[in-house]
Amino acid sequence: MRGMHPRRAMGRVVFLLAVLTTFTVFGWGASAKNVILLIADGAGFNAFHCSSYFEYGQLGKQPYDAFAVRLGCTTNPFEAPLYDPAKSWSDFKSQRSKATDSAAAATALYTGVKTENKRISTGPDKKPLTTIAEIAHGLGKSAGIVSSVPFSHATPGAVFAHNEDRKNTDQIAEEIVYRSSLAVVFSPGHPRYDSNGKKLPHDKWKDSYCPEEVYQALVEGTTGRGWTFMDSKRAMEALAADPRPEPNRVFGLAKSASTLQYDREGKKQGRLNGNVPTLETMSLAALNVLNKDEDGFFLMIEGGAVDWANHGNNLDRMVEEFADFNKTIASIMNWLDQRGLTRDTLVIVTSDHECGQIWGPDAGEKSKTPFDLPKSRGKGKLPDAKHYATGHTNVLVPLYATGPGSEFFHALVDGVDTHAARAWQFSGQYVDNTDVFTVMKAAIVP
Ligand SMILES: [Zn+2]
Repeated sequence: MRGMHPRRAMGRVVFLLAVLTTFTVFGWGASAKNVILLIADGAGFNAFHCSSYFEYGQLGKQPYDAFAVRLGCTTNPFEAPLYDPAKSWSDFKSQRSKATDSAAAATALYTGVKTENKRISTGPDKKPLTTIAEIAHGLGKSAGIVSSVPFSHATPGAVFAHNEDRKNTDQIAEEIVYRSSLAVVFSPGHPRYDSNGKKLPHDKWKDSYCPEEVYQALVEGTTGRGWTFMDSKRAMEALAADPRPEPNRVFGLAKSASTLQYDREGKKQGRLNGNVPTLETMSLAALNVLNKDEDGFFLMIEGGAVDWANHGNNLDRMVEEFADFNKTIASIMNWLDQRGLTRDTLVIVTSDHECGQIWGPDAGEKSKTPFDLPKSRGKGKLPDAKHYATGHTNVLVPLYATGPGSEFFHALVDGVDTHAARAWQFSGQYVDNTDVFTVMKAAIVP
């Protein structure tokens, strides 16, 4: 609480009262059995809207557009000032200063603590922090990570690993494989394949995301941690179709060095890598394994390559990556519905930060219309939008939530951004990324 903004402190008091009232009036213990957190890495409102324009030609058709909770979310890291709507909407350039990286943002989302950039679920003092996945595990639940980028990358890594620097991917990989209690991991980052899904000759094996010894131990089944290893698309598809699969602990490594699709040859959509599963397939496979746990589960799913495409200012492949992310959410909502789990599951869809400073064609600090918005060119066509940066920005990201506990977000609102409300068609109310942890925890801890 130290150094907390008064409005935030007030938000906390209101929030605690709300929780207490809920407990006393309804006698609820933990309200959510399961939590699914979906992160479109590097995606602000404009990226979300570009994906909708591409897929539907209009807004409002995504599964999360119907969620009860639709808010903005601030993403500043420990070392940066709080989000200032007045500044953000009067100074286009200021949006590019002191933005978070994915490590500090992931730490905030999973632990509720603001930390410095580069930290993986460790504080500014470099000490390890307890993550929501660890809390879920402590309650007897199973936990998992799924990503379209390697499991040792910042966003998936920070779910269970703790490290002072995201660049230590070998240590992060070792912690996940040997010391975490994750039940499922699905991601690319395969040391034997390139990013086109082609097998590498021996002298080109790359272990930047998964150290050679760790890979060998996974394949040979000698980690001592009970992992069932798989890397074939077919095996993952079988798991996605099997409601009660045999293995209890699965490590699925898709056959690509870096991303499922984004990093392949070319700059345009189409001609996909054929030997890797989709994010949707990996997510359903993960859910089927996790759902064997009668105590429930926590699952983080990341559309990680959305960020990579925005760094590359590649709108074409950004909407391609986003479509897989959106399809994944639609399938998950169906999966929950078919199993009668919708009312037991808190689902949160958000981003860790904006990337690429996407705005309309006539935006920019030198323009008369600096905050020109992206425009639809119709379904299946790239929207009229442009990147104005190659890195991250500090603008608000969207946050959608549904299911038990999601209403707690309303007690944590920090402010109202009236410009954002007009531009992006929501209340303009925003919470902070640390509130995602607070709400998830309140939803599962009795
Ligand atoms: Zn990034």
